[in-house]
Amino acid sequence: RLPIIAIDGPAGAGKSTVARQVANKLGLVYLDTGSMYRAVTWLVLQNDIPLDDECAIAELASSCEIKLTPSQNLQSPVQVWINGSDVTQEIRTIEVTSKVSAIAAQGAVRKALVKQQQSWGKRGGLVAEGRDIGTHVFPDAEVKIFLTASVSERARRRQQDFKKQNQPEVSLEQLERDIAERDWKDSTRKVSPLQKAADAMEIQTDGLSISEVTDKIVSYCQQ
Ligand code: C5P
Repeated sequence: RLPIIAIDGPAGAGKSTVARQVANKLGLVYLDTGSMYRAVTWLVLQNDIPLDDECAIAELASSCEIKLTPSQNLQSPVQVWINGSDVTQEIRTIEVTSKVSAIAAQGAVRKALVKQQQSWGKRGGLVAEGRDIGTHVFPDAEVKIFLTASVSERARRRQQDFKKQNQPEVSLEQLERDIAERDWKDSTRKVSPLQKAADAMEIQTDGLSISEVTDKIVSYCQQ
């Protein structure tokens, strides 16, 4: 089996950019699991399903078809399709971002998406990024990384991301509040909360560039 590299950490710690670069350098496939929770959230909103209707949401999550295709270049995110709709842009809106933790906390949603992720990972060869990759999705991953950064640093990075994606500007204060709230929800939920695996290497990324973090991980993988 080809190796699996698990990269977990809170919102805005730089996981996506770093995971994509690591995958590119090592010739592995990049799997953005957050985009799957976002796509299901988009579908829930699209169908006007109340966020607490766990039965309807479970049904939707277990019957939907999610397709991820590699991005055209290293800077842009993966393309995400759900039931035939391209939702690459739609899943990054503030609306989806503010609702996704409530959807990701539902056991049936996680069960359906984790099953899909594990089937993609059967033959290895992945850099998988999320919240529960090293602890739950791929507990036998060859390399586990836990990326962190301070809330203010993460808010700054999110603001830059929004700019690059031509999204409406959001204040740093608002972003800090949103990030702190999502951290709290993701790490206190009952099913597979955001958690550092005991055997993960933690990298605090404040003040480090993307390429510095990428190089650290690549050389750790090659040890
Ligand atoms: O990584 P990203 O910010 O796109 O993830 C969006 C949300 O999806 C997270 O806030 C979390 O609620 C959920 N998520 C998760 N487990 C994962 C990946 C993401 O619960 N493996």
